[in-house]
Amino acid sequence: QEEEQGTEIDVQNLRSPICCILGHVDSGKTTLLDQIRGTDVQGGEAGGITQQIGATYFPADNIKERTKELRADAKLKVPGLLVIDTPGHQSFTNLRSRGSGLCDIAVLVVDIMHGLEPQTIESLNLLKMRNTEFIIALNKVDRLYGWKVFPNAPIQQSLKQQSDNVQSEFKWRLTDIITQFKEQGLNTELYYKNKEMGETYSIVPTSAVTGEGIPDLLLLLLKWAQKTMVEKLTFKDELQSTVLEVKVIEGLGTTIDVVLVNGVLRVGDQIVVCGLEGPIVTVVRALLTPHPMKELRVKGKYMKHKEIKAAQFFKVAAPGLKHAIAGTALYVVENLDDLEDVKEVVMEDMKSIMCRVDKSGEGVHVQASTLGSLEALLELLKSPEVDIPVSGISIGPIHTKDIKKASVMVERKNEYATILGFDVKPTPEAQELADKLGVRIFTSDIIYHLFDQFKAFIDVVKEEKKKEAEKEVVFPYILKILPKCAYKTKDPITLGVKVLEGTLKVNTQICVRGQKKFINLGEVTSIANSYGPVIEGKKGQNVVIRITGSDSDEQHMEYGIDFDDEDELVSNIPRNSIDLLETYFKDDLNKEEWKVVQELKSSGCWFKNNISKVRSRLPRSVYGGKVRVLEW
Ligand code: GDP
Repeated sequence: QEEEQGTEIDVQNLRSPICCILGHVDSGKTTLLDQIRGTDVQGGEAGGITQQIGATYFPADNIKERTKELRADAKLKVPGLLVIDTPGHQSFTNLRSRGSGLCDIAVLVVDIMHGLEPQTIESLNLLKMRNTEFIIALNKVDRLYGWKVFPNAPIQQSLKQQSDNVQSEFKWRLTDIITQFKEQGLNTELYYKNKEMGETYSIVPTSAVTGEGIPDLLLLLLKWAQKTMVEKLTFKDELQSTVLEVKVIEGLGTTIDVVLVNGVLRVGDQIVVCGLEGPIVTVVRALLTPHPMKELRVKGKYMKHKEIKAAQFFKVAAPGLKHAIAGTALYVVENLDDLEDVKEVVMEDMKSIMCRVDKSGEGVHVQASTLGSLEALLELLKSPEVDIPVSGISIGPIHTKDIKKASVMVERKNEYATILGFDVKPTPEAQELADKLGVRIFTSDIIYHLFDQFKAFIDVVKEEKKKEAEKEVVFPYILKILPKCAYKTKDPITLGVKVLEGTLKVNTQICVRGQKKFINLGEVTSIANSYGPVIEGKKGQNVVIRITGSDSDEQHMEYGIDFDDEDELVSNIPRNSIDLLETYFKDDLNKEEWKVVQELKSSGCWFKNNISKVRSRLPRSVYGGKVRVLEW
């Protein structure tokens, strides 16, 4: 299509797309990797497949050979496919450069027998966050009851030869999973029925065990990548490279595993990487890849290279890498003048992430094994569904210094004296100190489990605090004064009322809800229904209340003068109760009750005797005559 439009693509100049594999634990990611790597290698013909550090490289010719049954005569323009070997979040979140993803395309593995699982959804969110294209491998089709195996066959061929029962089970499971994706806001369809790739994500049924559907998956990966990413995949001289892992190797010291997405890296290059204690400036001593499969017995584990061109995954040995951070960019210093600039740029990654902590200084402490996963964790924490504030961050195992940092919250906001650790563990000393200082540590390899653990803990804390608050909080109520039921107009006022909203409680402050102001009347000292005294009046009930003005008030309010039966009476809620209501009982109050709370809050009239109405406003006749005193 590109050619039709007259855009010539320089095939020589396309690099290989980089592919990651994501999905729920046990969905078959590792087996799938073994399967796509394994077949040819075991057959003795490596077919150009090369094992790299943490990745496998498949030349396009090899993929063509494996997919010939699909009659895919289409030209493959990219030289091959670089598949990252460590499946899961780890490599995906680290394959980043300044917050955007370096992984060109991903495979999201879903177990056909289980459908979407927590980590599937988590992976989906990560893919969305990084705007990464992906294809769904609907794996373990061979587990459908009665499946006949056709090793390494294209999936349509295999499906056609299955019994009606198998086909119908396949269909309903597929439909079910398409619905589940829909619930996540995603359109999906079997890849060979998918007419609008891009809008609709493609599903390739596979078996990582029998190899069925694997040719389809490989071909689709390449075709889709080269169709949509020509620009992204055009080789550039500008170096683009990320540190994926920092590892100590015997004889080499601390090394970094690097993925080179663009450009060329040479022995002797001066490089700068981001370090925990500032930028690390060093010189490449060796560029290493594993020996090809056949030569496994060759002495020495690694093959040395003078230079390596993208896209490749390899190990860099250089002095001084001890504090390097995985998930950050690697830069080459072209000339010495640039060094200071590069040092600054390198640390920007770290800085931009440091900025994500809450300015208020209140929040949990978050820790992850690499910068990439820390970044993903922070992004997800910020999303509206999760929304947990963060006050501090660290990378690497949880040490005592991290506990000390988190412990600042113990006094300030105890529930935030918590460390959320993704893929990290506390040292024994750190755990001991945490127990001593009252810092909680939650760790998990699944980001959402971390959130769930924390949320569950917060819910318990909230429930406890709510119970505590319930003892002292004054709830809102609204009363209508019943006409002609003013039994005593003054000292104490005794009125018949109907409870319109909330629950009226004895010994609470009551006030008149005027047009613009509230007028405090005093305390409800007793309540009675037709059977006698009660401690509360519930919504809908008619009761008689006695209101005693406070001793400190010089002048007590009078029914008929300061207010009348056109006014509503409401509970006068102390300021601290308003705060408690807002914090713990928002969901327990209805709209009308909330309105009273809000009005009281903005009037600032709580517990004030406020004579606002002009006494002479009401003629005496309004209440004259019919007053009866009810004593109990
Ligand atoms: P990962 O946790 O996603 O890497 O999953 P694994 O690759 O470790 O697979 C988990 C289990 O599922 C292993 O016992 C695999 O043998 C099995 N498995 C993976 N893929 C398939 C498949 O396509 N068919 C069948 N029957 N089993 C599979």
